[in-house]
Amino acid sequence: MNTRKKITTSIFDILRRSLRSSWFARSQETPFSRRFRLALNPLALIALLTLSACGANNESTQSNVAKIPVDLILHNGKVLTVDQNFSIHSAIAVSAGKVIVTGDESILAQYKASKIIDLNGKILMPGFNDSHTHISGNPRRYIDLGDVSSIIEMQALVRNKARNLGPGEWITGYGWSEDELTEQRKPTRYDLDDAAPNNPVVLTRAGAHSAVGSTMALALAGINSQTPDPEGGVIERDDSGNPTGIIRERHNLLLDLVPPSSEKEIIASLEVNLNQLLTKGITSITDAQKTPAQYQRWETLYEQATLPLPRSTLQFEWHDPNSIQALKQRVGAGNDNLKIGPIKIFVDGGFTGPAAYTIEPYRNQPNYRGYLNIPENELVDQINEIHNAGWQMGIHAIGDAAIELVVDTLADTLTRAPKADHRHYLNHFSMRPPEDTMKKMAAHNIHITQQANFTYTLEGRYAENLDGFRLAHNNPIRSPMDHGVVVALSSDILPIGPMVGLYAAVTRKGMSGAVYGPEEAISIDQALRAYTSIGAFINFDEDIKGTLETGKYADMIVLSEDILSIDPERILDVDVLQTFLGGELVFEKTPANNQ
Ligand SMILES: [Zn+2]
Repeated sequence: MNTRKKITTSIFDILRRSLRSSWFARSQETPFSRRFRLALNPLALIALLTLSACGANNESTQSNVAKIPVDLILHNGKVLTVDQNFSIHSAIAVSAGKVIVTGDESILAQYKASKIIDLNGKILMPGFNDSHTHISGNPRRYIDLGDVSSIIEMQALVRNKARNLGPGEWITGYGWSEDELTEQRKPTRYDLDDAAPNNPVVLTRAGAHSAVGSTMALALAGINSQTPDPEGGVIERDDSGNPTGIIRERHNLLLDLVPPSSEKEIIASLEVNLNQLLTKGITSITDAQKTPAQYQRWETLYEQATLPLPRSTLQFEWHDPNSIQALKQRVGAGNDNLKIGPIKIFVDGGFTGPAAYTIEPYRNQPNYRGYLNIPENELVDQINEIHNAGWQMGIHAIGDAAIELVVDTLADTLTRAPKADHRHYLNHFSMRPPEDTMKKMAAHNIHITQQANFTYTLEGRYAENLDGFRLAHNNPIRSPMDHGVVVALSSDILPIGPMVGLYAAVTRKGMSGAVYGPEEAISIDQALRAYTSIGAFINFDEDIKGTLETGKYADMIVLSEDILSIDPERILDVDVLQTFLGGELVFEKTPANNQ
């Protein structure tokens, strides 16, 4: 009987995986893996119960076979498991937060659930794993200006904030750029005075080299037409010598006056900001720059949160190895919701400065190749020290010279002190390094988490600083993959939505529509894998998430379009309709939150 064969196959599958996981857990028992093994036991139990149910009904018809209770079934869809073979099924059963089985519509005959969702042909896939991003909590007084496109819009945000905070309270913000404003000029103190006459306001420009302050803010800082330019900075002035509100390089004169925010308000905002990621279908992140103290803030949040939060891994810089080691002693490997990730090293800058460290000079600066953030010998020492201390590394390298140096160093380190399954990786990899470098990466299992979305959003920066082959191959994906390098995709919040990265990975298009090095494009299946299971892999989480396979967390999303078959031009318009975290519906797109 076909049905029974299917049932027993899937049950054996569960048992096999469960046993394999148990073996895996026992062979490398840590508090973390032990929890995982214990969490799997209910699955093995369900599988055993099912087996005995089948055995008992050996001769009976399908209708007499007792249905196995599960929490949730989704069916009649296109379920992308993102497993090894990129298997696509139509249904999935979930219990206790984890995937029980994926398969065809016969799942409805085998399992019963209190909640059954008809996917109506829609795609269900693993939630996105943004393996390089930055999420923080903001003070109540803060306004995000990254998306404003006019001074009028900026004023509306300031007006609204002033109303919420009341008079006298400082208002801060970050991220405006006159290039992006329809007025095509910098905002002035008069613009801010208009919006919030009774509040000191200071809004920092994108890049953080200048800010605009309101008249009240300038007055509090003692800045008027008589004030000379501060050392290292410029107070911009109008024709009659009055400050316009813009202060370059020394806007700390205003920012220093802003009262510090309370831990409570930062945590509250962090909770909201993390929760928002679920609306983008992001169910896991790696935050690339945190301190042990910030880990404690996140820990407090994860213990107290009332909103659902994605699973997080935090990366630390090696400024204070003792406190990092002490944290590791205390929290071990963390848990499935929050854990310590690799150590971050900053090797060079990016192309916005521009400061990426390149082999050849920049396009328009024949004597400039960017620079290393730390002297080469210190970098080499640091890489060795961190490796020797047993930590995984996620190393920021953008320019081809930085990439080559890091890979050469890591290869030497790994030759001298081999370590199985170290999973060191490079953050960014924005330039294509020499072939030999990619070969070394493959040989030494040095992976990448890369931002395909940079090809789209940073197009202007690349065109300004790079040329020819270097420009065409910005953020190369296929070439490292063809060399056998494992590549994950992530956003670095430029922007955070995964659709931009998927779109650029597949089309290689910049914002202008220009195509860069189409030979670096990958297929949409590869891109989805890089944004889900590979992100889990480079964080040592492939046994608990990243694919919709038996025993893994049911972290999954429903898409508005069939992303596998639509015209790639439309990928940017694909919406996440629902997000499930551990089998719980944590976001649903409704007309109210439809933006
Ligand atoms: Zn970053």
